[in-house]
Amino acid sequence: MNLSSNPPLSYVLRRALRLRCPACGYGHIYERNLHLHETCEYCHARYEREPGESLGAAYLVSGLTMIWILGGFWALDTLLDVSPTPFLALWTGIMIVLNLFFYRVARALWIAFAYLTGGVYPDPDYEREYVSPGEKAPHYER
Ligand SMILES: [Zn+2]
Repeated sequence: MNLSSNPPLSYVLRRALRLRCPACGYGHIYERNLHLHETCEYCHARYEREPGESLGAAYLVSGLTMIWILGGFWALDTLLDVSPTPFLALWTGIMIVLNLFFYRVARALWIAFAYLTGGVYPDPDYEREYVSPGEKAPHYER
């Protein structure tokens, strides 16, 4: 496996859409449901280095959901010319389902974006618990 050269952008995006590691394309990003693997099981790339890195994915999926909801609301209002009040519960349900459905893909796309900007790479000692530079190392009792 040669990771010295970066794959083309289309490869990285395709890997993200398949929920695979952006670095090698083999490892699954998710362990189960919304629980992420810390590192790739093949190339040991660490997916997230700081807590809260997935916030960008939440913004991404929220923004896309709002665009879809506004477009659907506008289309329904224009085509059917009905009062929007009865559809409020319907749009709320659609918004929740879209957020849950697309969050996994949005998070994988966010990890791919981090990979493309140099934030996702294999750790030399991937089995050690990651401690960010500003964080204190865990203290163990003897
Ligand atoms: Zn990998």
